[in-house]
Amino acid sequence: MAHARSTPVDVSGWIESIPEAAPVSWCLPAYGGRVVVRGYDTYRSDLSPLSGSSRWMLDSTFVPLTVPMSERADGPHGTVFPGDCVIFFGGDSERPESHLWYPQRVIHTEAGRSGWQRVWAIRDTSEVPESLTDRSSTALPRWMRISQPLHGDRRRMALELFGLNVDCPVCGARGRPIMYGMPPGPPGPHIAIGGCLVDADNPSCSCHCGAHWRIGHDGDVVLAQTTAREWW
Ligand SMILES: [Zn+2]
Repeated sequence: MAHARSTPVDVSGWIESIPEAAPVSWCLPAYGGRVVVRGYDTYRSDLSPLSGSSRWMLDSTFVPLTVPMSERADGPHGTVFPGDCVIFFGGDSERPESHLWYPQRVIHTEAGRSGWQRVWAIRDTSEVPESLTDRSSTALPRWMRISQPLHGDRRRMALELFGLNVDCPVCGARGRPIMYGMPPGPPGPHIAIGGCLVDADNPSCSCHCGAHWRIGHDGDVVLAQTTAREWW
């Protein structure tokens, strides 16, 4: 995220080699996997090339061991684990304003001093579709302290930006994003088909419990009223 280094790093002790041609979704969470949203220490971050790769980079940074602000805090807090998908928020020397970075995959962690944890994560530097690049966000308040996890509407908004906001607001199970329009091929089992009528008010996710919903501009959940369609 800052302080680019040029010496390639060998991470073969932490993870098997990552294919150069892996899909853009490689850094996204495995089905049912955790997504953590975290601030980081800008002054203790650096980005190194991976040995043998021109595409993947290794982000090394320190993140706070977050504590929930209230019992209502949803989403994982506290320790970050290898295998987690992490969305970092914060700035760097080129873009000091706080923004959300494209999801990365955590491959190694170590305990840091006094409430900090060192985290290494894989960053994809290939050309990802416009819809998947890092997002600036005006909804991230300036006063937000990185020792607090994003929760509630802000967490949902962050996940929604990258199509990862699929936790059911009714039963809590992991739902499925709904794909509209003519699919280019058979969709994966984690995608629901929503028909050809594309409308901004359409629900964007569905759950096996029967709920379907979309996320409003502020990250608020808008449950769909109609159950006329079989979304699941
Ligand atoms: Zn549900």
